[in-house]
Amino acid sequence: MLCERADFVVIGGGPAGASAALTLRRHAPGRSVVLFEAGRHDQAKPGEILPAVAQGLLRQLGVWAPFLAATFVESRAVVSAWADETPDELPSIFSAQGAGWQLDRARFDRLLVQAASAAGAQVRLGNVVRSAMREGQGWRLALADGDIIASAVIWATGRSWKLARSFGAKLRVHGHLAAYTRFFDRAPGDCRMVVEARPEGWWYSADLPDQCRVVACLTDPDLGSELRDPESWYRALAATQFIAPLLPQGARETATSVKSAGTATIDPAAGQRWIAAGDSLFCADPLSSRGIVHALRSGILAAYAASDMVDGRGELARTRYAMIASQGLADYTPALAAHYATAARWDTAFWQRRRPKPEQRAPMGTISSQSRSAS
Ligand SMILES: Cc1cc2nc3c(=O)[nH]c(=O)nc-3n(C[C@H](O)[C@H](O)[C@H](O)COP(=O)(O)OP(=O)(O)OC[C@H]3O[C@@H](n4cnc5c(N)ncnc54)[C@H](O)[C@@H]3O)c2cc1C
Repeated sequence: MLCERADFVVIGGGPAGASAALTLRRHAPGRSVVLFEAGRHDQAKPGEILPAVAQGLLRQLGVWAPFLAATFVESRAVVSAWADETPDELPSIFSAQGAGWQLDRARFDRLLVQAASAAGAQVRLGNVVRSAMREGQGWRLALADGDIIASAVIWATGRSWKLARSFGAKLRVHGHLAAYTRFFDRAPGDCRMVVEARPEGWWYSADLPDQCRVVACLTDPDLGSELRDPESWYRALAATQFIAPLLPQGARETATSVKSAGTATIDPAAGQRWIAAGDSLFCADPLSSRGIVHALRSGILAAYAASDMVDGRGELARTRYAMIASQGLADYTPALAAHYATAARWDTAFWQRRRPKPEQRAPMGTISSQSRSAS
């Protein structure tokens, strides 16, 4: 069995992990960074809408040029049949931040880990970190073919919290939701993302690079289990008014995915020489379209905090990081509830659960300004 050493180990090579690895290499070039990613970023993955606000983060990470070269779909508008059956269209040209993008997520995630590798991080695809235990000041991580000892660890495994117990962290679930997603090719579009509220939950669809398209239904897991069955999914799709017509004759299904998509946080956000980033720290309802931006931003912040930890400023790094993490949730929760409340026009279980109790009425906030269904 091999046993290696690294200054920093990043677990997970999604946007959060790649952003952390890139930042660590730039901020502390004399220190070694190893990133382990379980997959290879060669499968379709939901999470395609990147708001315009990401541009600043991509520039900060030094990946703006390759991002532009990847020719993702520039989003022309968001069309939203949310509060009633008349769709509102918000053209990107009227947004102060400009147009966002409709991504091929596998390509986007690959682009980021390639940039981390070019910056000097060792990127190991197809490597699962199985467990973590304290070793001296740092951590010993177990892989299939040996161990690695790290001075500090960034935990960015997305919505997989198998390592929570190792880090002594607790998952707090704030809301349940499941996404039943299908991907298609031969399905060209007009660079718009469409959202439609339905009795069973809500649907979205967007055209993606290379004439591909994503179509997803979001509902509560206990209400949507039959949507795993293709016949039920296509039947529910056919009942939509604005989503079904987006799939042209001849569109071909290429992949499916069922994922949990509710809101959850980890507590604490950081501990002795470990820091959580991205969805592992705080995963948001996809309605908010904020997951990737949060992943990039928290990856950058986690890298600075990890660096401070190995430089002997662990207590300060943990306190600051936890404060930033909790602020994000405080803004998000009432805004999400208020946004759902504007569409609660059916008496079905999904919407009854989201109907505000009188004492819970809250002003619209950050969700409405950036979300899929902003109108
Ligand atoms: C249906 C749906 C739609 C969404 N739509 C949007 C959207 O439009 N816009 C948006 O911004 N966000 C969206 N999101 C959220 C967005 O996809 C996530 O917030 C984002 O991917 C988080 O990035 P991450 O790096 O934290 O996690 P992930 O992207 O999940 O990456 C984590 C990585 O860790 C790897 N991993 C897991 N365990 C291990 C292990 N033990 N060892 C090694 N590697 C491991 C995984 O293979 C994975 O590649 C959506 C989410 C869902 C479910």
